[in-house]
Amino acid sequence: MRKLDTKTIVVASHNAGKIQEIRDLIGPLGFTAKSAADLNFIEPDETGTTFEENATIKALASANASGLPALSDDSGLVIDALGGDPGVYTANWAERPDGTRDFAMAMQKVETALEKAGATSPESRRARFVSVLCLAWPDGHTELFRGEVEGTVVWPPRGTQGFGYDPVFQPKGYATTFGEMSAEQKHGWKPGDEQALSHRARAFKIFVETCLEA
Ligand code: IMP
Repeated sequence: MRKLDTKTIVVASHNAGKIQEIRDLIGPLGFTAKSAADLNFIEPDETGTTFEENATIKALASANASGLPALSDDSGLVIDALGGDPGVYTANWAERPDGTRDFAMAMQKVETALEKAGATSPESRRARFVSVLCLAWPDGHTELFRGEVEGTVVWPPRGTQGFGYDPVFQPKGYATTFGEMSAEQKHGWKPGDEQALSHRARAFKIFVETCLEA
């Protein structure tokens, strides 16, 4: 495992919600981070079929373009009753023909698919959010960290916080959706904590333990 010996990295993302969450997580650790969007880097095609492959494509693209270590996130919602869909295609389900993203439409698509599958009880609507973070160096070295959080897809959507599919995801053991939680509640983690809640914070905690701690 390679340690990270700089406090300047690139957040290899063009997704505003993710960039904000990664900034929230790395901020307390003293990092300065520009995003691929701030640097006007071209968004690479996500041609992989796994979260790991797509996270690696994004992190390497930003590390090569910047000459700095780059941290990417590839994530998605994996729903058992839909055979794991939308999975690595979670962002694509929100895509409109003009290329913009509409998450109200994407959440409705998920709901329609669940109704079609006859998934009406909470047990039949089990799902998990997955986040795979990739830290890539300009010399091509990569490290991967995976976090998952179990929960249920609820309908109708609840809450206006967070981003993407947060309003329809209720983590196991909680009465609120991610859309009803503050950023701090959703991460459920700060440096030094033993537990994290969100998929991204769980992956981030492994990144910290692996690449930052001596
Ligand atoms: P990608 O990693 O860029 O392929 O996109 C992943 C998609 O999954 C995002 O566009 C979000 O819609 C969704 N997603 C990932 N993480 C979260 C989250 O924490 N909350 C809500 N939606 C998420």
